[in-house]
Amino acid sequence: MVLETLIRRSELGDIYDKVVAGQRISDADCLRLYQSRDITVIGAIANVVRERKNGNYASYILNRYLNYSNICILDCQFCEFGKKKRDAEAFELTVDQMVERVRHDLALGITEVHIVGGLHPSLPFGFYVDMIKALKALDSRLHVKAFTAVEIYHLAWLAKKTMPEVLATLREAGLDSITGGGAEIFSQRVRDLICKGKETAEQWLDCHRTWHKMGGRSTCTMLYGHVETLEERVDHLRRLRGLQDETHGFTAFIPLHFVPDKTQLAHLPPASGFDDLRNLAIGRIYLDNFDHITGYWIALGLKLAQVSLSFGVDDLHGTIMEEHIFEMAGGTGGQQQTREQLERAIREAGRIPVQRDSLYRPIKVIETPNPAPAEATV
Ligand code: SF4
Repeated sequence: MVLETLIRRSELGDIYDKVVAGQRISDADCLRLYQSRDITVIGAIANVVRERKNGNYASYILNRYLNYSNICILDCQFCEFGKKKRDAEAFELTVDQMVERVRHDLALGITEVHIVGGLHPSLPFGFYVDMIKALKALDSRLHVKAFTAVEIYHLAWLAKKTMPEVLATLREAGLDSITGGGAEIFSQRVRDLICKGKETAEQWLDCHRTWHKMGGRSTCTMLYGHVETLEERVDHLRRLRGLQDETHGFTAFIPLHFVPDKTQLAHLPPASGFDDLRNLAIGRIYLDNFDHITGYWIALGLKLAQVSLSFGVDDLHGTIMEEHIFEMAGGTGGQQQTREQLERAIREAGRIPVQRDSLYRPIKVIETPNPAPAEATV
């Protein structure tokens, strides 16, 4: 009651009243949230939405990442993952190598494989189709989540097909979801500065729109903390909320901070914990038509991800074996969590852990701690 009174008397009290009343906040409200330094009030407002939508539950998934190749024709300034064929760190996996890795992790209990790569100059479209088919052949229940919208356009160019034709062919092969990467910041001013030549915001949105209209679901992201303005962050969220109103196809919003360390933008300061928490919280408040906000512990580190469960976040993503994109940029969030570590982090934050599937549906509510594992698990 005391906290509520303090929030109502704060500079953001009118936004709190709107949220409590279930009203949508405006773009101007969103900008005011970004301009405020009152992270406690922003977090408390986000928590109202978080608990209304997801109660006291916080989810995670058992998953693994898989990068088929980091060879890329583009040279985004924020990216250290993409390499040229001649570079020593360039790699390509065969379909058989991917199958072996996933076979191993299926035995450990994963329910999802998350696949992205660079925009490879010469791998034929058939390689991607065969990859999906081979992974689904391992276990038809395995959820194959693969490719950013940017990769889908690249495959269309390689295969001389349209973007909807590529999506339809991949779906036929067994693709279950597309990933939310490649959105960066939608502003063309920013895209020209940090990822010249990449697909436009309209193309990114149109790919997800097409996928949603085919009955598919996807996540969406925002890469923040580089050269974008606060107004451009609001514009990005506005476009995501608009598409969600139209299709209801996004399962979750996953904001990602830019890691400058080893990139061409290494002179920029890294995002602060304050900025991480406010992006998550503002995403939760503004995106009223999204069911879930994911705190990506690979970027945040598990400790801040745990705190984010009180700032609008209701999902900690997954066990995430073998992440390379943040790691190669100099990220220090860590590699791979066990299910016990995720559950402990959630429980310590006062939330109830839930193992979920790729569409954020609960598989199992973990009411009591699992016994210590007899052997390694993911
Ligand atoms: S962000 Fe993606 S498209 Fe850009 S250079 Fe890196 S791998 Fe290539």
